[in-house]
Amino acid sequence: TAPVDGTATEPPKKLPKGVVLGKDGKPCRSCTSFGAWASQAKATLKTNPDASSTAPSSTIASAATSSTTTLPQRRTDCPADVETLGRSTWTLLHSIAATYPPAPTPTEKNDLKSFMGLFAKLYPCWVCAEDFQQYIKKEEPKTGSRDEFGNWLCEAHNEVNRKLGKPTFDCSKWQERWRTGWKD
Ligand code: FAD
Repeated sequence: TAPVDGTATEPPKKLPKGVVLGKDGKPCRSCTSFGAWASQAKATLKTNPDASSTAPSSTIASAATSSTTTLPQRRTDCPADVETLGRSTWTLLHSIAATYPPAPTPTEKNDLKSFMGLFAKLYPCWVCAEDFQQYIKKEEPKTGSRDEFGNWLCEAHNEVNRKLGKPTFDCSKWQERWRTGWKD
């Protein structure tokens, strides 16, 4: 049976803008935004309308039943796209910074360094992961204290923000955003 992950058939020859292929040559869900993914699901259905019968509750099936011009409705229980994955991951990382000790032991410092190195290797969006690996090679994670790591992480996040054309965050406010809550 075909998988219900939007890759039930070969991807269309010409991929819609923004769809990133995985290392297996198939569209990579965790590297692609929902909008681009939905466009590729529609394009797949155009080339193979049978794909819908094998994936009744997936994005691809919604595409099949939608009109020719509208994109499928977004469900809340679909696999994470690049943005959902990113938002959740930043929440985890900044929350780790927020609960990291102000004066960590040598073991805690090493654990955090190892975690960041492995995280950068295992991050599910491979294009994001490769850039992040490059970044931490250049700018080693600073794990000397909570504030040091929180600021380092804020700068790392800002580097991704810049790459994506998003506004940067004022790193003097990282603790208010992720630990204490806003002052006002
Ligand atoms: P996010 O960037 O997810 O931020 C979540 C919240 O964090 C914001 O609402 C804000 O309150 C706060 N915030 C923002 N900046 C900072 C900061 N500097 N310090 C502290 N808090 C901050 N997406 C891609 O398309 N291509 C990539 O190459 C890519 N690389 C990524 C690499 C990593 C390691 C991670 C974790 C994610 C990556 N992403 C990438 C996802 C991307 O960074 C965003 O998560 C995604 O686009 C959703 O953005 P967002 O606007 O919801 O806010």
